[in-house]
Amino acid sequence: MTHRAGFDVGGTNARIHLFDERWETVGQRRERIRDHTTPGEVAATLIDMLRDVCTEATIELGDIEAAGIGLAGQLSTDGHTVLNAPNLGWRDVDFVEEFRSHWQRTGAEPPAAIRLVNDLNAQLWGEYVDGAVQGVDDVLAVYVGTGIGGAILSGGQLITGAGHNAGEIGHSKVVVGGRPCGCGESGCVEAYAGGIHLERRVAAIANDSDDPELDALRTDEGIHLGVADSLADTHPQIGEIWEEATNYLAIVTANAITLLNPSVLLVGGGVMENCDVFRAMTLQKTIPLVLQVCRTGLAVEQASPGDGAGVRGAASLAARDCQN
Ligand SMILES: [Zn+2]
Repeated sequence: MTHRAGFDVGGTNARIHLFDERWETVGQRRERIRDHTTPGEVAATLIDMLRDVCTEATIELGDIEAAGIGLAGQLSTDGHTVLNAPNLGWRDVDFVEEFRSHWQRTGAEPPAAIRLVNDLNAQLWGEYVDGAVQGVDDVLAVYVGTGIGGAILSGGQLITGAGHNAGEIGHSKVVVGGRPCGCGESGCVEAYAGGIHLERRVAAIANDSDDPELDALRTDEGIHLGVADSLADTHPQIGEIWEEATNYLAIVTANAITLLNPSVLLVGGGVMENCDVFRAMTLQKTIPLVLQVCRTGLAVEQASPGDGAGVRGAASLAARDCQN
C-alpha cells in the first residue's frame, strides 16, 4: 500500500493524478464527463481512469492506500455524501459508496481511506502541503472563476464550519435585494463579480453596441473576458462594470481578512488568472479596506496554475485519514 489517488470532478471534466510514496506524480488523466454525469457514470469513469494510470505506472489497484475526490458542492461532514452539487445535478448521493462498488467490480478490494473533499478545500490544502502557500498556517483563499468561492486555513487546519459550509465567500451579500445569484438568493458578490455574471453584463453591452471592438468580444464560446478586461481602461461601459464588481469584491475580501487575520491572501481562479486589470483593481481596493493591524505583514500570493493543487490536496487529505 504505497500509492495515493487524487481526483477532481468538475461539471465538464474529471481528472486524476496518481502519486507514489514520495508524492511524485506517476500518472495522470483528464476525461470529459459533461454528457455522462450520473453518479454511476462518473464513478465508472473515475475507476477506468484509475485503472489506466495504474497500468501505466505498473502498479496494482491494491497498491493504493487512499483516494480523495475533490468535488464542487455541499458535502456531508463524514466526507461520504454529496448533499447538493448543482454542477452535476446531484442531491443526497452517497458517492463514496458508488465509487467503492465500482472499484469492487474490478475484483480488487478498495482501500478504507476514500473520501470526498470540497474542491476549494482540496485546492487550498494542496497549496499548503506542496504549493504556493507551503507551510503557511493562516491563509484566506479567494477563487474568482465562473463563480466565486473560498477556503480558509487557520492554525494549519482547514476551517469547515458546523455544516461544512465555511468559506462560501461568493455568497456574501453586498446589496439587499440585488442581482439574482445562481444560489437562488440575491445580492451576492458572485452575482456582480463572478465570471459568468461578468460575461452576461459584458454581453448585454456588446449586443447593444455598434463598436467593433465590443462586437469582437462575442465568440462562439461566449464572451472573451480576458479581452474585455484589456478594454476596461478605454471603454467606459466595461470600466463601469469592472469598477462596481471590484468594489464589492474588495469589500467582501477585506472584511474576511479583517475577520480571519490570515498572513496570506491567496487569489486564484480563471478571472484572477486571465484578467490582469480586474485583478489589480481588486487588490488595490482590498488592502486599504483591511483593518490596519490585520494588514500588517499580509502577503498576497497567486494560486498555482493548472489542476495540480486540487488533486494533490484531495489525495493528501484522504491519506491523512489512514494515518489517523
Ligand atoms: Zn449566491
